[in-house]
This record gives sequence, structure tokens and C-alpha cells, in this order.
Amino acid sequence: MKPLYGVYGASGCGRGIMPLLRQQLATTDAQLVFIDDAPTTDVANGHSIWTFDRFVSEPASQRLAALAVANAGVREVLDHRCRTAGIDVIGVFAANVIIMDDVEIGPGALLSPFVTLTSNIRIGRCFHGNLYSYVEHDCVIGDYVTFAPGVRCNGNVTIGSHAYIGSGAIIRQGISIGAGATVGMGAVVTKDVPPGVTVVGNPARIMDKEMKC
Ligand code: UDP
Repeated sequence: MKPLYGVYGASGCGRGIMPLLRQQLATTDAQLVFIDDAPTTDVANGHSIWTFDRFVSEPASQRLAALAVANAGVREVLDHRCRTAGIDVIGVFAANVIIMDDVEIGPGALLSPFVTLTSNIRIGRCFHGNLYSYVEHDCVIGDYVTFAPGVRCNGNVTIGSHAYIGSGAIIRQGISIGAGATVGMGAVVTKDVPPGVTVVGNPARIMDKEMKC
């Protein structure tokens, strides 16, 4: 029997992670499949798409999963589902990721190509660092935080769990972003962001109802 690895989520995020996992496991004799609860096809990019039930029931010497769904709430649910079924979540790091000194990353982080984490950084469970994002020195990042591509997170920034940072956002040094907050694409964050709010623009401001329409 072979070890079985699943990329949970067969959509955009998952299809960006599968080649990285394949590369990470290149020297091992592992079977790699997608896991998806609502698959639209049986195969994606040469890998079978299985339901979670099939993933837990097929013969395997070991079962591990990379949680490749951008939505933080879904990721947390899938994390609990996997752990309850005795499946460990695994981290997937692109080969060219740069990680400097004293960086602690929780289980299940997915780091895409060209991500840089400098020194003395703490990151919680199931972080997503998408293409070209960086995290500078002394940042503290909670659980299930998602960075879209190209996030520039400068030093001493604190980010609460479940926050979503949009593509190309810039976060000023020393800023605190509350749990569950959303930072819009391209926002320039110069002030602390309270938990749960959405900020957009340059300088970033809390989005109100009028801005939404
Ligand atoms: N998905 C799943 N279980 C869940 C929630 C989502 O398998 O509980 C799958 C869903 O069917 C879809 C993928 O995860 O294939 C999420 O894809 P989406 O395009 O919403 O976003 P992505 O995270 O890939 O950017």
C-alpha cells in the first residue's frame, strides 16, 4: 500500500497547489488525488477527484491532506473533518519559497511560488501565502489567514485569525488587523483595522453601505 495524499478542493486554489505537492513528493511513491465534496468532473490535470468518504476508505498506508480552499471558514471546517478522521493536514511549500531565521509556521500552510517569510515570524494553522506575497520580520499571524497573490506585509504586523488580505494589498509596518477582517485588493493599510470589517482603497478605509453599491 502507498501513502495517499489529497489536495482538498479541486478548483482554482487546489489546482495551483497540486503541482507543488507533486514536486514536494517527487522522491516518494505516493498517490496524489484531489478531494472535493461537489466535484464537477472525475479528473483534473491528470489527478482523480474523490469524495472525502472515498478518500478515507481507499486502502492506504497513510493519509494526509492539503487544505486548498481559500475561504477561511471552510478551511477550518475541513481541518476539523480531517483531524476527526485521523488525517493529518500537511504543509505545501513551493521549491523557491524563502524562509529566513526563527520562523514558526503552524500545520497545513500552503506557500506558493516566490513567497518570502523573513525572520522572527509566527504563523498559525493552515495559512495561505499566495504567489509573490511576503511577510516581513516580527509579524504574528493567526489561524486560517489567507493572503491573495502579491500581499506586502511589512514588519511587526499582527493579523488575527480568519483575516483575508486581498491581492496586491500593502500593510504598513506595525499595523494590527483584527480577526475576520477583509483587506480589499490593492488597499494600502496605514491604520489598525478592527475585527470583522472590510477596508478598501488608499489609504484604506472601512467600507460602508454606500461604498458597496
Ligand atoms: N469544497 C469542498 N468542500 C467544502 C467546500 C468547498 O470540497 O466544504 C470545494 C468546492 O466544491 C470547490 C472548492 O472546494 O471545488 C472551492 O473552490 P472555489 O472556486 O470556491 O475557491 P478556491 O478556494 O479554489 O479559490
